[in-house]
Amino acid sequence: MRSVDVVIVGASLSAAAAAKRLVDAGLETVILERQELPRHKICSGILSPRGHRFLIENFGPLPREVLHEPTWCRGVTFHFPCMVSMSMDFFGGTTPHLHRKYSDYWAIQRSGAEVDDQTSFAGLEDHGDHVLVHARQKGEDRHYRARWVIGADGPSSLVIRALYPDYPKQIPWFFVGQKFHDIIECPLDHEYFHFWFHPDLGHYTWSHARDGRQIVGVGFKRGDNFDERHRNVKRYFEEKHGVRLSEHTSHEGCAENFGPSLINRYVFGKGNVLVTGQAAGFLNMIGEGMSCALHSGAISGEAVVEAKVTNRPVERMYRKMIASEVRRTTDQWNPFKIAFDKPHEADFPAALMKLSWRERRLVLRDMWRFILLYKEFKWGRQIAAAGMQRLFGDGYPMHRWL
Ligand SMILES: Cc1cc2nc3c(=O)[nH]c(=O)nc-3n(C[C@H](O)[C@H](O)[C@H](O)COP(=O)(O)OP(=O)(O)OC[C@H]3O[C@@H](n4cnc5c(N)ncnc54)[C@H](O)[C@@H]3O)c2cc1C
Repeated sequence: MRSVDVVIVGASLSAAAAAKRLVDAGLETVILERQELPRHKICSGILSPRGHRFLIENFGPLPREVLHEPTWCRGVTFHFPCMVSMSMDFFGGTTPHLHRKYSDYWAIQRSGAEVDDQTSFAGLEDHGDHVLVHARQKGEDRHYRARWVIGADGPSSLVIRALYPDYPKQIPWFFVGQKFHDIIECPLDHEYFHFWFHPDLGHYTWSHARDGRQIVGVGFKRGDNFDERHRNVKRYFEEKHGVRLSEHTSHEGCAENFGPSLINRYVFGKGNVLVTGQAAGFLNMIGEGMSCALHSGAISGEAVVEAKVTNRPVERMYRKMIASEVRRTTDQWNPFKIAFDKPHEADFPAALMKLSWRERRLVLRDMWRFILLYKEFKWGRQIAAAGMQRLFGDGYPMHRWL
């Protein structure tokens, strides 16, 4: 059995950030990754300016091979059923279009941590002064003894299932899928990420250019038919935006835990086991999850270092320290913050003000109709309550976190 200070599950960006803090502090850290590295990761790869700053400050300038073509993105364009489109540039200029297969591998390598790839986390036992981690590597059982464990294993986290077996039943699950098309004609500006607030298209509809092809993406409540949803969106793009694409050449999809950050229902783990990144529920507006994965990952690593130095329970340290990232992420969904502050990295209110009165009215009406699509999840009251608590308190209530 291998003995280390920390086992991190998942070799993604949150893991790289956590590992960087741990290795810098001299803790022996091993990352378990179920796939072979460098591994594929489904993602649009549009890094927010804040995520970009984090990568540069912690891992150095980004090499060309970690980027797709176009290598950068200028901002986001929102499209509405009333046929108004609004483009918003990111604050501080363009941001990188990451090729997740290589960017994540690069960050993991730069963290200095050891990685056991093709090694799937299977379970754990927290014994108070150490945690036993059970894994499978190429069909063989492998065991690790660690002082602390960090679950950085993404939305369908097995670490969370090990701690809270019922958790997956407590939240709604979504499916997001994307198909890649050769372009016949595409008037959508390839310098922007395009998002549709259209309830008839689905819960999450997007498109952008990548490596000479166009991605058509659809997100919806799990259980619907991906092909039908995609066909509908492709037809809409053609009819309304003049986008003519060939049949798709490849496709992919995955389950998403969209929701916890909207209603301040994060999962941060228990005992000596922390949960971070999207596994914990971090997801910003329009599904931007890399910046909060990086920052929350770093905080989980810092919490472990702090627990070691002060000899205090890591769970308590982490919950205190992660509150700042919760504020940043949940603020993005907080209607009071959206109306009276600037929680996002592009200026939606300014773009709205550039429209005529009539267009503004139509856009707000369409946004409201889009929000109603989410009514069945009963998030409205919870968002409003969290927003009020944030107005009168320092942050979001911790008692709602698992
Ligand atoms: C279609 C799509 C488009 C997106 N576009 C964007 C975007 O443009 N910008 C943005 O910022 N975010 C985007 N996101 C979100 C972003 O990809 C995630 O929020 C981010 O990758 C979360 O990082 P993470 O470190 O928490 O975990 P993940 O990136 O999910 O990585 C988890 C890792 O854990 C590994 N793992 C899982 N289970 C196990 C196990 N049992 N044992 C060992 N290893 C395991 C996985 O293989 C993976 O390597 C998108 C997501 C999707 C699905």
